[in-house]
Amino acid sequence: MGIIVKSRAELATMRRAGTVLRDLFAELVTVIRPGVTTGELDGYIERAIIDRGCRPSFKNLYGFPGSACISVNDEVVHGIPGNRVIEEGDVVKVDVGALLDGYHADAARSYPVGIVSGEAQRLLATTRAALDAGLAQARPGNRVAHISSAVQAVVEEAGYAVVRDYVGHGVGRDLHEDPRVPNFASGGYSPLLRVGMTLAVEPMVNAGTAQVVVRDDKWTVCTRDGALSANYEDTVAVTEHGPYVLTR
Ligand code: MG
Repeated sequence: MGIIVKSRAELATMRRAGTVLRDLFAELVTVIRPGVTTGELDGYIERAIIDRGCRPSFKNLYGFPGSACISVNDEVVHGIPGNRVIEEGDVVKVDVGALLDGYHADAARSYPVGIVSGEAQRLLATTRAALDAGLAQARPGNRVAHISSAVQAVVEEAGYAVVRDYVGHGVGRDLHEDPRVPNFASGGYSPLLRVGMTLAVEPMVNAGTAQVVVRDDKWTVCTRDGALSANYEDTVAVTEHGPYVLTR
């Protein structure tokens, strides 16, 4: 399909969608608590998005049943909301998209529930720092590989592993556009970043092995060794002034 560059007007629309996600994530700090099911959480997210004039990007995409992907502890991504009860000490990852006036914004946050282990706190902080390092590279003249390498460096310096099987992506009229945005240096050709490109950068970071398995439900991706995983994602626009994060 090729990389689609957006106009200033298109970026403004995506920024409005991104703002909806930003505000939703702030609310979820108090919504995500012990005793709430992931299905109830998904219902809250769906209503919040619709109430603000957007549509949940993920609902029915490729057949996904939820409005958000909700992944707990060793679940990496694509967790299906349902009857699972959130417990004290869990790490809950919420990945959600908002579609507004024909354009998507895509973002994810990891939430510690109550008191989590020191190791969990360090994993979350590292993943967030890796995302920040990647976003900072989203400037004209760089290549996608600059983002990938910056993410990988932060993760591996902390002794953690970057998931290889799932990557970030371009985002715009389609939730998933070119280019692929790996969280690791993959070698070979890497697209040049140009003004108006919009990317979803989304490191998935495991405390143990990088390897993952998909559950029998055909969606939920888990760490193969059962270790904890974290994920943060933001949609960023490449501008002449540097990275413009649309979902913060
Ligand atoms: Mg994404």
